[in-house]
Amino acid sequence: MKLKNTFIILVMVGVIVSCATNPFTGKKTMAIVPNSQLFPTAFAQYDQFLTENKVIKGTSDAAMVTRVGQKIAVAAERWLNANGYAGYLNDYKWEYNLVEDKAINAWCMPGGKIVVYTGILPIAKGETGLAAIMGHEVAHALANHGQQRMSAAYVQQGVAIAGNIAIKDEQSRNAFNQYYGIGSQVGVMLPFSRAHETEADKIGLYIMAIAGYNPDEAAELWKRMSTQSSGQAPPELLSTHPSNDSRIANLTSLAPKAKEEAAKFGVTSFR
Ligand SMILES: [Zn+2]
Repeated sequence: MKLKNTFIILVMVGVIVSCATNPFTGKKTMAIVPNSQLFPTAFAQYDQFLTENKVIKGTSDAAMVTRVGQKIAVAAERWLNANGYAGYLNDYKWEYNLVEDKAINAWCMPGGKIVVYTGILPIAKGETGLAAIMGHEVAHALANHGQQRMSAAYVQQGVAIAGNIAIKDEQSRNAFNQYYGIGSQVGVMLPFSRAHETEADKIGLYIMAIAGYNPDEAAELWKRMSTQSSGQAPPELLSTHPSNDSRIANLTSLAPKAKEEAAKFGVTSFR
């Protein structure tokens, strides 16, 4: 009995200290639900989402989403390789889909599964604005922000016991949906924290710049987003991405640094 308790405590400690290093910040982050468990769940949920929604194929907008997504993915890989994190994206299975929906929204699930809603395209106002959106959403995924929120919630609920964290039962699937916000299935996604937003803004700017998109556009995009929020249909993206004037100021001041970062990769002109 005593041995068993000791074993349980060891397992719990093992789980709690199972931290991952965020390559973009160098910070240790909590990862109770490992990618090896998270990715298959994410991939299955993504496929299900695509079967339940209208995916747009063969239009110039759909082609633009794919083109921007591919450039963002390549840029992320280049940045990680150059910073000693080759292999970080090995288990990623990038996919980019445009979905017919008037919601002003976009997201990236763990493992690089991206959806852009047609409703956000008028605010993106072209390829560079779209790159700002996709760069930001990909940044959340790369930095494991959803995973951190999910892990933190597990700890709060005292669920940090090895046997209970596999994402296979109903409760865990619901938690996954809540923290990764798979649109219509759940409808409620918890907002990202201010700290996570700031981090995703910075990472997103670097990636879009390395991909050849002008990082100055990111501040303009968020200006358009907040103007829209005073209209009749506030952007869904803002419900998960609390925003304010300091975000726009921060993006403006970081844009030159993003261009310097891109220059290290030989990217000096931007579209
Ligand atoms: Zn965000």
